[in-house]
Amino acid sequence: MALKIQALHVGTLKDFPTAAITFQRGFGTTHDVAMIMFLVTGGEHPVIVDTGTGDPEFTAKYHGYNLVRPPEQEPRVVLERAGVDPAEVGTVINTHLHWDHCSNNDMFPNARIVVQSEELKYAVDPLEPNLAAFERLPGILPPWVRALDRITTVRGDAEIMPGLSVVHLPGHTPGSQGVLIQGEESRYLLAGDCVDTHVNWAGDDRLSHIPSGAFTDLHAYMDSFKKIEQLNCSVIPSHDLKVLEKGTYV
Ligand SMILES: [Zn+2]
Repeated sequence: MALKIQALHVGTLKDFPTAAITFQRGFGTTHDVAMIMFLVTGGEHPVIVDTGTGDPEFTAKYHGYNLVRPPEQEPRVVLERAGVDPAEVGTVINTHLHWDHCSNNDMFPNARIVVQSEELKYAVDPLEPNLAAFERLPGILPPWVRALDRITTVRGDAEIMPGLSVVHLPGHTPGSQGVLIQGEESRYLLAGDCVDTHVNWAGDDRLSHIPSGAFTDLHAYMDSFKKIEQLNCSVIPSHDLKVLEKGTYV
């Protein structure tokens, strides 16, 4: 069965430090970063891959970033425009448990939430430099905890439904995973933050692919790039505004 992917725009982080996205490149410069919730339709039920951030006030208070989210980019509004009732969503997949990928998990009351086992374990007790990214912060509960009762874990690569499987891509975090989706015209990989932008995947004169500036294991990260090369697929990055220009992938 051919599946369809829609990239839904749920906000933009303005003036984000470029070196945090492209490994040791662009120090002192900033750019705007897309927050994207992916909707996959054509299967038994709608699937959501990554659920985006909290609201701008929360983002400023706990992460210090300027999130711009006009009313038409509110997650509920975006889903309604796409014709999806959150209660119909049967599966949510988190590429990883960083705050900007799982903060609206609790919006989907009937979905099972698919996470790599290693990711869940790391998110409970991350190393100190990673505490904020997983929202292990004083006085608040991490967003994935609000839907903990619906989380199911996988270990490594696994088929989730016909035409859609998860692929373990560690490096950015221990349990980062991509989502491999068979469309009618192509096979796609929603790469999570293993590939933040097209620039990361395209590489430059020094590297065939550029890692994120944030990672827990650079060895694993470079192996994950090799693994993606073998998948024979079109790579869709997680945070590139250009992904929203095309918007629909079939
Ligand atoms: Zn991340």
